[in-house]
Amino acid sequence: MIGAMQDWPLLVSRLIEHARTNHGDREVVALAVEGGTVRSNWRTIADRAHRFGSALETLGIRHGDRVATLAWNTHRHVESWYAISGVGAVAHTINPRLFHEQIAYIANHAEDRILAFDLSFLAMVEKLAPELTTIEHYILLTDRAHMPANSSLDLLCYEDLVAAGDPDHAWAVIDENSPAGLCYTSGTTGNPKGVLYSHRSNVLHAMTAASGDCFAMGVNTSVLPIAPMFHANAWAIPYVAALTGAKLVLNGGNFDAPTLHKLIIDEGVTLSLAVPTVWLSVLQYLEKSGGNLGLLKRVAIGGSAVPRFMVEAFQRDYGVTVSHLWGMTEMSPLGTLGTLCPRVSAMDEAERIDHQLKQGRAVFGVEMKIVGEDHAELPRDGKAFGRLLVRGPWIVSRYFKGDGGDVLDRDGWFDTGDVATIDPNGYMQIVDRSKDVIKSGGEWISSIELENAAVGAPGVAEAAVIGIAHPKWDERPLLLVRQKDGASVSKESVLAYLDGKIAKWWTPDDVLVVDDLPHTATGKLLKTELRARYKDYKLPTA
Ligand code: AMP
Repeated sequence: MIGAMQDWPLLVSRLIEHARTNHGDREVVALAVEGGTVRSNWRTIADRAHRFGSALETLGIRHGDRVATLAWNTHRHVESWYAISGVGAVAHTINPRLFHEQIAYIANHAEDRILAFDLSFLAMVEKLAPELTTIEHYILLTDRAHMPANSSLDLLCYEDLVAAGDPDHAWAVIDENSPAGLCYTSGTTGNPKGVLYSHRSNVLHAMTAASGDCFAMGVNTSVLPIAPMFHANAWAIPYVAALTGAKLVLNGGNFDAPTLHKLIIDEGVTLSLAVPTVWLSVLQYLEKSGGNLGLLKRVAIGGSAVPRFMVEAFQRDYGVTVSHLWGMTEMSPLGTLGTLCPRVSAMDEAERIDHQLKQGRAVFGVEMKIVGEDHAELPRDGKAFGRLLVRGPWIVSRYFKGDGGDVLDRDGWFDTGDVATIDPNGYMQIVDRSKDVIKSGGEWISSIELENAAVGAPGVAEAAVIGIAHPKWDERPLLLVRQKDGASVSKESVLAYLDGKIAKWWTPDDVLVVDDLPHTATGKLLKTELRARYKDYKLPTA
């Protein structure tokens, strides 16, 4: 016997149709790449998505074809995103911050048939085009007035296609397990690998993301996802905003603190999401300008660990709650979120913040466990740490085209590559990436914890810790710090600051003040590059 309820495929197009029907006049506001602000709403976004969808079909796009975008978070990107998946094709969001060779590799690997891109990337795409072997059409995401007079490419104009599109177009009726989106991992080693999201996985993920202990979004929310759509779907916000009828605020290609701050104030933003480096610059700007954060109630921070001073500054100085989250491209991206449960809420402030610094509790739809070297599960005691494995309906089952072979174990668990603890209240804490943990005298030192402690030192803007070969201990930590403008940081000042804040044996064997630290295209410290740079470094203790 099977249940007797309706079969209603979970399609991404349902989200935009729901927003059109029930939240049609709720605003979508975007800073345009051409300059100025575009004020739209869900009805208009949905109508234009349909028109663009019909244009894609006229251009020959069919079920399963890949259509790539190279674009910031804008209204046109949201429209084209929904249009591509809506016609049954795959929205392949490419990260424009990748090296050119990586972009060419990714577009060719994905066999993208169309590339739709922002005006800001015109020169880059013209240069890349000879390397792109499968693109049949280039669409510039702009209006007629901004089309270039000369280009080496045969360009189609987005607004022309929308204007000529069919207003009565209907979305494809397809199986909910059909692919909807494609995102390549940033790949700190080897070639990037594609994660192929399905309609079903995206809709289920959005439903959980909207819920109370996740983003707690509703029709009264005004949300600014600063996390880009090319990085794990802007953490699903363009989906969740449509599902809940939230006002969607988009920052275009603007990541400077004054612009973000103005947007938060002007658009009554109540929830915003970004990586720690973005919030660092916003907090520094506020410190200088003396402003406030208006109606902002909550910031969701993830992508790398949130430092303590950031939680304290948001909550104490601005009355904004921090939701620390952890996830990855392979997880759509949501895995855990640091909402306080009653037992933790009852603790004193310092302990509550200790818990907020952990990466959080599993959301519904994500199973997780930690395992030791022998693959046996470790206790949830907050002390034992091991490889973090996950399982669930929006977690990758294999990379696109089978790259990397089998990525699940016998029981269907995916190894995240992170090393973590889980405490008795269910809070997971990332100790390190398994590749980055420092193995000293048979014990592990967490590079992340050391970095978090070091960024609290006066004058330190950013810190990175890597393991350096040591004749006695196997590896010992080397701390690299970048100082804030005008500061004068020294090895002695940093070590004096760390004294008493970390276990004695974790104390870095050396501290170097450097001009710059390398980052990946998604803003994470590029440890492989640092390890290569300091491969032959001799520690003073060696
Ligand atoms: P990506 O797929 O580029 O989003 O990278 C995912 C990886 O980023 C995870 O496996 C973690 O190593 C790291 N990461 C994400 N969120 C956090 C966080 N809140 N704290 C520490 N590391 C994080």
